[in-house]
Amino acid sequence: MILPIILVIVFVIVLIFARRNAPTRDCRWREDRTGDKGSLRKYHCVACGAEAYRSEGPPDRCLKGLDTPRL
Ligand SMILES: [Zn+2]
Repeated sequence: MILPIILVIVFVIVLIFARRNAPTRDCRWREDRTGDKGSLRKYHCVACGAEAYRSEGPPDRCLKGLDTPRL
């Protein structure tokens, strides 16, 4: 009779980890090879327009508002 309880606990833990590792809400990062700086790769968010330089993979969160606004 303890098995259902264990299943529920495991489900909750998985849910917490899934939310923690969830990708950025609405952000979709695209590589911009033309903007590379040395080993840093330029990433451009097509959702909000944020830009970031990373050496490994796109950012895991939205960087909107952190970079200088452009008109
Ligand atoms: Zn974004």
